[in-house]
Amino acid sequence: VMLVDLDGFKLVNDQLGHGAGDEMLRIVASRLENCLRGTDTIARMGGDEFLVLLRGLKGPDCTAQIAEKLLGRIAEPVVLEGQEFFLTASIGVHSDCRGIETEALLRDLDNAMYGVKSDGKNGYRFVSRDGGDRIGTRLTWQSRLRRALEGNGITLHYQVLVDVEQGTVLGMEALARWQTTTDGFIPPSDFIPLAEESGLIHQLGEQLLRNACSQGAQWLADGIDTGAMSVNVAVRQLRHEQFVPMVEGILEQAGFPPSRLDLELSETMYIEGEDEVVAKLERLRDLGVTVSIDDFGTKYASLAYITKLPVDRIKIDKAFVDGLPDDIGSAAIVSAVVSMAKSMDLDVIAEGVETREQLDFLLTNGSPCIQGYYCGRPVPADRIPDMITNRTYLPTPRLRAPHATDSEPPHDA
Ligand code: C2E
Ligand code: CA
Ligand code: CA
Repeated sequence: VMLVDLDGFKLVNDQLGHGAGDEMLRIVASRLENCLRGTDTIARMGGDEFLVLLRGLKGPDCTAQIAEKLLGRIAEPVVLEGQEFFLTASIGVHSDCRGIETEALLRDLDNAMYGVKSDGKNGYRFVSRDGGDRIGTRLTWQSRLRRALEGNGITLHYQVLVDVEQGTVLGMEALARWQTTTDGFIPPSDFIPLAEESGLIHQLGEQLLRNACSQGAQWLADGIDTGAMSVNVAVRQLRHEQFVPMVEGILEQAGFPPSRLDLELSETMYIEGEDEVVAKLERLRDLGVTVSIDDFGTKYASLAYITKLPVDRIKIDKAFVDGLPDDIGSAAIVSAVVSMAKSMDLDVIAEGVETREQLDFLLTNGSPCIQGYYCGRPVPADRIPDMITNRTYLPTPRLRAPHATDSEPPHDA
């Protein structure tokens, strides 16, 4: 049995009125219903509280999985009156309630559910017969992420983008890093989705953008030309009403020229048909900011749509570069993408270049702009000035400045 109570639902009612609140409840109810089987039962107990009865589950692990699933479904954004809302819920769970009085059961569920609320909400907790509580992992990670964010525990590393033919640095990509004391390094591929799911991405994205722009401005002030600063932006961030003013404000505060900011967007297929989002990209480009399509080729994106998107550059995903030069499919895709980009007057960068052979293929196919361990791994900001001055990002001594001596490609960090 699960007692599901929405977090912060009162706010929806207060802000949008009861009509919208009712609509929200209907949406949540049907989401919950869709997670359940025909033999399960769901009831609204009143207010924003639902009771779920599940039969024949194989033990607490299975029950926990369902609680996770319910939380995941509830966390998906709800669009009401043109605005995006993020809801979470707190769940009390009893995995074996045979022979327990209804009243006692509800009281226990209530206690477990309130335990989740007081621990920061958005999670589940078991009422177990032995009295030991188990807390959902989602809750712990999410509140840890929030804390890390508030304590500036998420930092940036920078990786060079290089035009190998010209021997110049095109720019830097700012990549988020989360170093914890207890669990070591947590990769962005783990915590960015968590941030997106919980809505924390807005706050996180803003903080990282601010840090990247101030760092870029600092390098400029120090007379170190690091080119453009590329910052990753999640589609969800773009949908935020205040996204464009936020970017403008940050650029102004940091004193960083808009023409030096590049925004990398992945999953552009999700914005197909979202005119408002496309208009925002256009506004940003009017300011001088450039836009890149990240991970190009891995996610479905119709070519017809790409031609309509206001973008400046595409980044060929590492998945294709990996196969170079021997894999026929990868080679065909890379050269097709390069010539397509050229005919569309888009810049192209190959990501994840690790070997001389990959680079040679790219050079032969007219794609001299690369990013990858071959030129340099992502490193902390203080490592960059030396890299620029000594041109250690250039792969061979032949291409390097006379005073640089080491001949191995840098494998830092
Ligand atoms: P991405 O934007 O495609 O970033 C490139 C990733 O490839 C980085 O991983 C980088 O370290 C890695 N990489 C670069 N060159 C090579 C190479 O030669 N070999 C290999 N094996 N890997 C290479 P990282 O830093 O772990 O980032 C993973 C993803 O997390 C990024 O993929 C991006 O989608 C996301 N991410 C990172 N920082 C942010 C951020 O600030 N905001 C958002 N929204 N997403 C971010
Ligand atoms: Ca990127
Ligand atoms: Ca990428």
